[in-house]
Amino acid sequence: MNAIIFGAPGSGKGTYASRLRSRLGIDVIATGDIFRENLKAETPLGKKVKSYVEKGLLVPDDIVINMLKRRLAKVPKEKGFILDGCPRTIEQAKTLEDIVKIDVILLQMVPDWIIVERLGSRRICKSCGAVYNVRFLKPKVDGVCDKCGGSLYQRSDDTPEVVKRRLQIYQDQTSPLLQYYKKRNLPFIVSSITALDTPPETVVNTMIDELKKLNLA
Ligand code: ADP
Repeated sequence: MNAIIFGAPGSGKGTYASRLRSRLGIDVIATGDIFRENLKAETPLGKKVKSYVEKGLLVPDDIVINMLKRRLAKVPKEKGFILDGCPRTIEQAKTLEDIVKIDVILLQMVPDWIIVERLGSRRICKSCGAVYNVRFLKPKVDGVCDKCGGSLYQRSDDTPEVVKRRLQIYQDQTSPLLQYYKKRNLPFIVSSITALDTPPETVVNTMIDELKKLNLA
């Protein structure tokens, strides 16, 4: 199965995708994670994207597409993948269409107030990128990753001002992609969250049930 997981910043895409990876043995390509790893390691790619990522602006399409092509080439043939954070523009979607077949869209519908609440208290593991929330998805030990023992930090683009910009960009540039995929008659699995404390497992279990109905899991 090749899937795209869509949703606004803070809608839970990364959290669900990593759980689907463990449950379905599928590869996850999270473009934001790849950029953050490159930023941290101060690679040439990291230097190129730094100012965009820190300001919450989209990285230019040519850089994203180049990186995506290289990463997709590494997906083992027998494995499917979930794209998290990509495509974000029509240009990216068109290029993707030329390289791979997408089977399903996993769409997260989350009201803005939940997103704002969540992002303010989100923490990320410095070593493995696992996502926590100091209010709703706490690590067992404060500030320490359950999975690898790494220390947790707050993303520099999770500040209220940058979050506002990221939400606006999602509305303006990324959400039109949903129409694009609807026109192509791709199946959609829509998860609607209405409460702050919905456990990720609940959402993921429903997604897997729906994927089974489509013969994709
Ligand atoms: P979120 O969905 O929480 O905003 P991501 O981790 O997916 O965060 O992305 C973080 C940042 O990385 C974005 O704000 C943007 O600067 C950059 N980025 C990630 N993926 C893309 C993409 N496909 N196109 C352009 N920029 C991207």
